[in-house]
Amino acid sequence: MAVDELRAAVRDIQDFPQPGIVFKDITPILADGRLLRLAIDRFVADCEGQGIEKIAGIDARGFLFGATVADRLGLGFVPIRKKGKLPWKTASLSYKLEYAEAAIEVHLDAFRPGERVALIDDLLATGGTAAAAAKLVEQAGGNVVQAQFLIELGFLKGREVLAPHTVKSLVVF
Ligand code: IMP
Repeated sequence: MAVDELRAAVRDIQDFPQPGIVFKDITPILADGRLLRLAIDRFVADCEGQGIEKIAGIDARGFLFGATVADRLGLGFVPIRKKGKLPWKTASLSYKLEYAEAAIEVHLDAFRPGERVALIDDLLATGGTAAAAAKLVEQAGGNVVQAQFLIELGFLKGREVLAPHTVKSLVVF
């Protein structure tokens, strides 16, 4: 099954980026044309029938999947970037990471009012990043219809943090 192949290709990296963390490395999926297409096919299928009008991708691996899905669907793509990278007027939001704070930004004119948005990232862990991104999209006028991930670390319960938004993930660990 496609999902099993994607799951098998994810590589566990012990103690990255710090001791005690097992990092899920998705680069083997990116490097394999067949698996990459499989993943994109699934992302696209999860968008179909939802009336999605724009794709928003989260810095940085969310850009890889998000922009590709947007292209397949003939939709526009909006980057949600780490603070200080976007050149025009932005909405900005700070949020807590496990040991630090982070801030993300989006251009104020990125969405038409009420535009139906699918939010895309590579991985859902605690949900802090995606929840902040969803809030930011809504601050900028978009309507977050669903949040989509290649990987969900189910045991961290990020899905609950994103509620009531719909969460769709391809591979759940
Ligand atoms: P969260 O905010 O805890 O849900 O973390 C999700 C964000 O951190 C996403 O933008 C991911 O790209 C990144 N991330 C966290 N853990 C991993 C991992 O194990 N592999 C790849 N990315 C990760």
